[in-house]
Amino acid sequence: MNTAAFHKISYGLYVISSRKGDKFNGQIANTVFQVTSEPPTIGVSINKQNLTHDYIQDSGKFTVSVTSKSTPMPFIGLFGFKGGRDVDKFADVNYKIGETGVPVLLDNIIAYIEAEVINSLDCSSHRIFIGKVVNCDVLDNNEEPMTYAYYHEVKRGKAPKTAPTYLKEEPKPTAEKSANYVCSVCGYVYNPEKGDPENGIKPGTKFEDLPDDWTCPVCGADKSQFEKEG
Ligand code: FE
Repeated sequence: MNTAAFHKISYGLYVISSRKGDKFNGQIANTVFQVTSEPPTIGVSINKQNLTHDYIQDSGKFTVSVTSKSTPMPFIGLFGFKGGRDVDKFADVNYKIGETGVPVLLDNIIAYIEAEVINSLDCSSHRIFIGKVVNCDVLDNNEEPMTYAYYHEVKRGKAPKTAPTYLKEEPKPTAEKSANYVCSVCGYVYNPEKGDPENGIKPGTKFEDLPDDWTCPVCGADKSQFEKEG
């Protein structure tokens, strides 16, 4: 079995949000699909370990926020690699409460879909939720949606272990300059030539010379979580 075949399937990159009582949570998912057009229904596959899974089961509601191609990695890191049990992901982002009472993100989002769960399918590690669409809209017609392939190839993103598409044998990036360091949590690559200017690290700063309190700009992991690339 050549699991590289799975990489030939196209996906997007979405933030799935839900609520439990007055708490919100959201996570990145790539497996969102329209099931029927009349009535409009959509499906999404969510890992049972994720807090969003519990929230969707509790409220029976979820929203899909479609990310744009220009979405910065820290935004993907916040929703894709941080746990809602540890951080309030909605504390510092713009969102609105949709018709279902579930938050719809507004930053880096080109469209959204709100749904109410009408069915679900237990798939061992994951559950597929089928939702009746109760509202949806386009927020930006000029930006293109982020695709999973673009996220991997251009943004150099990685799949968290709880993603449906995570492959244990996910190929490592081809060997490059040995001085690059890779975040073992999210796959962010620290390139000393580029530095991390957004966080005050000048281009040309070696990984070894980064301050001890520097953390991964995507997922917040500390320096000890980084491994030399190659
Ligand atoms: Fe990271």
